[in-house]
Amino acid sequence: MLTTRFTEMFGIEHPIVQGGMQWVGRAELVAAVANAGALGFVTALTQPTPEDLADEIARTREMTDRPFGVNLTILPAIDPPPYEEYRQAIIESGVPVVETAGFNPKDHLPAFAEAGIKVVHKCTSVRHAVKAQSLGVDAVSVDGFECAGHPGEDDIPGLVLLPAAADAITIPMLASGGFADARGLVAALALGADGINMGTRFLCTQEAPVHQRVKEQMIAHSERDTELIFRPLRNTARVASNSVSRKVVEILEDGGEFGDVRELVSGARGRTVFENGDTEAGIWSAGMVQGLINDIPSVAELVERIVGEATELIQQRLTGLTSTTSP
Ligand code: NAD
Repeated sequence: MLTTRFTEMFGIEHPIVQGGMQWVGRAELVAAVANAGALGFVTALTQPTPEDLADEIARTREMTDRPFGVNLTILPAIDPPPYEEYRQAIIESGVPVVETAGFNPKDHLPAFAEAGIKVVHKCTSVRHAVKAQSLGVDAVSVDGFECAGHPGEDDIPGLVLLPAAADAITIPMLASGGFADARGLVAALALGADGINMGTRFLCTQEAPVHQRVKEQMIAHSERDTELIFRPLRNTARVASNSVSRKVVEILEDGGEFGDVRELVSGARGRTVFENGDTEAGIWSAGMVQGLINDIPSVAELVERIVGEATELIQQRLTGLTSTTSP
């Protein structure tokens, strides 16, 4: 058992979180994560309407009696969703925790606080973590440059970002971006975090509702197989390297505008990748951590393996290093 401020605050067994993932954070995965003793988040905007989100939360509840949350991400979107209606559906569903991401969560915090819902805010800089703490969030998830999805525009990897954030805040902190195994968990704890958030690694599990070919492609990929798209638009996103993402980088680097790539990057195409397994059909998020993923375990196997090996690593290797006996 690894007990941290995060496990105690959220009443979970292990300091491991499955954060929001568009098209992936559905009932099957979230319930498996909860049943494994970790904390999973249903991705609100994967559901086409707030009513569908309420149904998805109910479906998750049928599969687990353990705590889970909902992710609400606010990013530029081709058709901006009705965030307040999604927020209301989350509140009415009675989940105990929300993960906010993508933008300052201040407009949503009073309603969540009034409903007694805890908020974990995901952010990509020390200043945003400090700001989120001052706004009253319960915990932050600090996302290094290695991450899948939106790493912000500062390009600070976790090895520096996490201890810098730990020095600046007092609330519990999750380490996010680049985590896949026990070595990452132990490192995160050493850097000052109270747990880890994993996205890409959870996508490559048996329960993730994603086509097998995408998982196999992720195993075949190395840490070098990602692209940073939308850099010139200051909406940078790290996605798997494929013909579409490379084309998007080229168009924007040549001075193109969002309109020139809109059709290539649409979420609808990304969804096709996950559903049909055609990994060249659109853009799909993946982190550098692909280079550490070599199998497709069940969620329970993955969580048990990470916690078991982390405990061993701490007790045997690290404690051994502190031995004062001379060789
Ligand atoms: P989409 O089809 O609306 O847009 C596709 C991509 O283009 C996204 O990465 C988006 O950020 C970007 N984009 C859209 N308009 C832009 C603009 N004007 N300038 C620069 N970039 C722009 O997105 P989608 O993939 O269908 O996502 C739908 C919703 O889900 C969005 O509201 C998004 O915020 C959200 N989302 C959630 C997660 C998560 O893990 N929770 C991840 C990605 C997206």
